[in-house]
Amino acid sequence: MSKPPPNLANYDATRADFSWDRAREELAGMAGGCMNIAHEALDRHLQTANADRTAIRFLPRGREPAIDISYRELAARAGRFANVLASLGVGRGERVYVLAHRIPDLYAAALGTLRHGCVFTPLFSAFGPEPIRSRVEIGEPSVLITTERLYRRKVADWIADTPSIRHVLLIGEVDEAPDGTADAGALMDQADAEYDTQPMDPGELALLHFTSGTTGLPKGALHVHEAVVAHHITGKYALDLQPGDIYWCTADPGWVTGTSYGIIAPLTNGVTLIVDEEEFDAERWYRILQEQRVTVWYTAPTAIRMLMKYGPELARQHDLSALRFLASVGEPLNPEAVHWGRETIGLPFHDNWWQTETGGIMIANFASMPIRPGSMGRPVPGIEAAVARGTDDGIELIEDPEETGELVLKTGWPSMFRGYLNEEERYRKCFAGDWYLTGDLARRDADGYFWFIGRTDDVIKSSGHLIGPFEVESILMEHPAVAEAGVIGVPDEVAGETIKAFVALRPGHEPGEELRRELMALARKRLGASVAPRRIEFHDNLPRTRSGKIMRRLLRARELGLPEGDLSTLEGGKQ
Ligand code: AMP
Repeated sequence: MSKPPPNLANYDATRADFSWDRAREELAGMAGGCMNIAHEALDRHLQTANADRTAIRFLPRGREPAIDISYRELAARAGRFANVLASLGVGRGERVYVLAHRIPDLYAAALGTLRHGCVFTPLFSAFGPEPIRSRVEIGEPSVLITTERLYRRKVADWIADTPSIRHVLLIGEVDEAPDGTADAGALMDQADAEYDTQPMDPGELALLHFTSGTTGLPKGALHVHEAVVAHHITGKYALDLQPGDIYWCTADPGWVTGTSYGIIAPLTNGVTLIVDEEEFDAERWYRILQEQRVTVWYTAPTAIRMLMKYGPELARQHDLSALRFLASVGEPLNPEAVHWGRETIGLPFHDNWWQTETGGIMIANFASMPIRPGSMGRPVPGIEAAVARGTDDGIELIEDPEETGELVLKTGWPSMFRGYLNEEERYRKCFAGDWYLTGDLARRDADGYFWFIGRTDDVIKSSGHLIGPFEVESILMEHPAVAEAGVIGVPDEVAGETIKAFVALRPGHEPGEELRRELMALARKRLGASVAPRRIEFHDNLPRTRSGKIMRRLLRARELGLPEGDLSTLEGGKQ
């Protein structure tokens, strides 16, 4: 079958002509200039031929048959969920957290939350109890949606200490709802499927996403309903979503990619979204691409590198001919991965760049443009990106190509975050005049392609997950033997970085295998396996600045065998 031309056929012309106001006109909007993300994702399809199209094709664990949910059905489930919230007295603007793995109810809960005008916050289901609890304490949700299993394992022990939560609703299969919880399915069965989606001011809060900084607890990035304009247009331009597409975003909805591009953008673009309940499995993934005839695939470098480890044969045993566009995000995509895609799948991976705060894709290799392997691509139409250096009173843009500086973005795109919850000062520090400071280092070549260099701060990217060292250090410090802890990311061939902890012990404690195992177990239990350190090294003491802060840079330099004197650059950065 011949492939359709890309949505963004002429980058320069579209860019020159682009305005966010015009982009907004591609969506339905609501009376009086109001908006609602869920209205664009669901309601507006109901009067069109899309209504009976499959919105979500859910692939349950094992080899159970797929379950198709049409746009009409998904809107009805979200409607029931919105009515449940209304019947519980949950009001507009209240926060609803969802802690669940990829099951259909998660999508109904997310969209029902938005239809009801509440703020949706996803939590990663592989987190241990501690990251979940701290995010609940910071964001003070009124409602927690989770599964019975996750509730018993990760929530039940501490929920009594978090008074903001008025309702715990259990989705998925419920054996027996523990005291203080209710079976959401039973409530939804009794609720009406009809619900009038709340018209929201475009600048009203819709999403709260947690992200990590170098210091302190996680930050809650606030996003508003008009963000949907950016989700929609970047889904169309950067992911090239087209009518009839079967689209698979492998990101978990517990992270921002899994919401912006794993729920919202595909639905506003009216395509069919594949949702796989299982975790990574090379053979299963190829089988999904083949059997589901996936046309657009959005995945991440760690996953691509894991597939590469299985070699090209496995890929070649599958018919991947339905694929039209491959994209990747979240960490640097090494050129080998781009080439590997071309050689084994017949298509290159298109890298794109964004972060929790930007809400949507900012820089991308577009379908119509030649890829520069190793480059993140060029700014999305409507986005002005630049490289800057710090000055005494702000920043100065670097005009010369090839020079490294901080990646900055001109403010004013619709999915830009509007604050960190309760942290005005931290938010203000992210800006210099009209420019948002991303905390990433990059360079721009003479043709306007951007190249990722690194971070200006100490956060760690492991398997695409952003991890704040402080969160990990705090848990290690809780152990009575630990005097201080410093946590860094060390390079890893597959995961990009893995977490390593340096630990100094209190007097009277001796380093040893048993203690190491104990600390590892503590971290895994409290933080979850994906956030816990893979390695722990004992030291007599850790390097500190004069003001007493642990110098993680020095730990990193030692780990990499770099001369410590070279570390004076790259100080500061987003906290
Ligand atoms: P998060 O907020 O968790 O989405 O993480 C955002 C951070 O991930 C960015 O600030 C970058 O440091 C990194 N990142 C995202 N996409 C890319 C990419 N395409 N290349 C390199 N780093 C990336």
